Amino acid sequence: RHNPQGDGQFLEDESTKIFARKVADHYSARSNQTLEEREASPIIHLKKLNNWIKSVLIQLYTSRGDAVLDLACGKGGDLIKWDKAKIGYYVGIDIAEGSIKDCHTRYNGDADHHQRRKKFTFPARLICGDCYEVRLDKVLADDAPFDICSCQFALHYSWSTEARARQALANVSALLRPGGVFIGTMPDANVIIKKLREAEGLTFGNSVYWVRFDEEFSSKKFKSSSPFGIKYTFHLEDAVDCPEWVVPFHIFKSLAEEYDFELVFAKNSHEFVHEYMKKPEFVELMRRLGALGDGNQDQSTLSPEEWEVAYLYMTFVLRKRGQPDKT
Ligand code: SAM
Repeated sequence: RHNPQGDGQFLEDESTKIFARKVADHYSARSNQTLEEREASPIIHLKKLNNWIKSVLIQLYTSRGDAVLDLACGKGGDLIKWDKAKIGYYVGIDIAEGSIKDCHTRYNGDADHHQRRKKFTFPARLICGDCYEVRLDKVLADDAPFDICSCQFALHYSWSTEARARQALANVSALLRPGGVFIGTMPDANVIIKKLREAEGLTFGNSVYWVRFDEEFSSKKFKSSSPFGIKYTFHLEDAVDCPEWVVPFHIFKSLAEEYDFELVFAKNSHEFVHEYMKKPEFVELMRRLGALGDGNQDQSTLSPEEWEVAYLYMTFVLRKRGQPDKT
């Protein structure tokens, strides 16, 4: 297997594993909230906006009967979205044991969860594992090929090393059919680096989030350093508190091309909202999700602080080269 880091990478491997465990433990420890707790969250409208973004992506790119691979599926918060898209099969993988357990519970419908309404119509397989560390093609040989792969708010956890970033893309590429799509959301490196450069020190944020870069990036110059392993700590009130890695988009795009993907689009979340709020069906969806106030301005119910957090993220759609089988 391609080993871009060469020999002597033991130490790096060890620390990478420790960080992956840190991320897993962080998400595992986050328990399901009650409906009341969720509604009281300082970022409730941001959560609803993110659900809207994911729903729009899913509706745009999924066809009835599709086989879906949900990388870093978390607690299965998107199961209902996939159900609405009438998919035929679902495989969800996540590194956090606690999240996969919650996902099982939600899929089986034995929890009194606010999102739970009815039995899902599609069969599902849920797996606990690190999707950026190991080859998934053998594990999922009987489930592949997939029509669509989704990786929501999680691909940046693969950018701790080049080997992991490559493994993530190699896995998706090996498991998608020709012409299949890879949809996702992740931090927008352009925004994050711009904010860091404008910051006085190595930290920036507002009342609901902060980002803190490690001392080694104090020069704030990234052009000469490796595009992998650019680590920062991300804290989002009532949601996240763990190490994350910058994903420079131009590098991501060219690496994805090596794995047979072509870029369909990439948009910052603000741009995504502006564009899809021009479509009445998605305005209606936003209203149903409760992310939109009466004012009909796209950020009207989000606080300015939440809207700033939305700006930290982007959506992307990649297509696997080749023509789908006619048979
Ligand atoms: N995709 C879900 C969603 O949109 O609701 C969860 C998003 S949550 C912000 C990030 C998820 O990535 C967590 O569930 C975490 O456990 C998962 N994750 C992080 N690193 C991972 C890895 N190496 N392999 C699999 N899952 C990972």
